[in-house]
Amino acid sequence: MKKTLILFSAGILIAWLSGCSKKDDKTPQETQNKDMAGCLGYASGYANSGVMGAASTYDFKSAQNNQFFAGEVSIQKGFWNNIPAEVHVLYESSADYRNAYASPDGKILFGYEMFYYLVRSFSKIEGSDNLSPLPVDGVLAHEWGHRVQFTVGWTDYAKASYRELEADFFSGYYMGLAKQWLWAQIQTYYNAIYASGDYYYNSPDHHGTPQQRLNAAYAGLTVAVYELNNNVHYTYNQLHSIFNQKVHSEIGARKSNVFPEVEYPKDLTKEKIERLYPTL
Ligand SMILES: [Zn+2]
Repeated sequence: MKKTLILFSAGILIAWLSGCSKKDDKTPQETQNKDMAGCLGYASGYANSGVMGAASTYDFKSAQNNQFFAGEVSIQKGFWNNIPAEVHVLYESSADYRNAYASPDGKILFGYEMFYYLVRSFSKIEGSDNLSPLPVDGVLAHEWGHRVQFTVGWTDYAKASYRELEADFFSGYYMGLAKQWLWAQIQTYYNAIYASGDYYYNSPDHHGTPQQRLNAAYAGLTVAVYELNNNVHYTYNQLHSIFNQKVHSEIGARKSNVFPEVEYPKDLTKEKIERLYPTL
């Protein structure tokens, strides 16, 4: 259905070394590694904190990739009404620390290593030299989902994993409402990423099981498809209530990897779609 596939130039895998000059007067914190588990656990000032690029300046050492990422950030800024996010590229200290983070103070840090890991491992399209933008878009939308949580201020999560599953729910929701991806396309990529056990910190206590994560993304997608088919608009609080209902039913309980495909209305226009973007 979608034709906007991005060709990333491969081979830009040069390790990006931090620009910090070698100093002998490092504090103990700057010489220690910190476990930054999960996409909410970023801390600065440690040996493995990496180096943050300037806000709104996305340098992936490839003009094409910089442009792709800037374009997607701009689309998501327009989608997530009233949910500010200052997006930075984070140059991780090594590929082992690849990650993407959202913070309560308004930042999304998208790892340089994470970006290329997603592209190399999950973005290939069978029988094509093109690469899918879906994995990078999906991780960014997951982080923006956390920014929604911080901005609206929800704290009613019965389990830590619900916060993460809701971010997956928002990611699926974005893919449906903003981009009208089919589930088969989303599932291919999300399934691989979640099942890899390598997407952030994959403890089920923390992020939910791969099946629950897929269930959450599917639930978000179907809510978006429902809105498009019925011209219904939801606020963030309404979406949060819907998630809270579904987390106990389909998201928590569904065991099958076979999901019914979604169907979009034929007469969608940009205007109709944009009127349904979530609001406070
Ligand atoms: Zn997360």
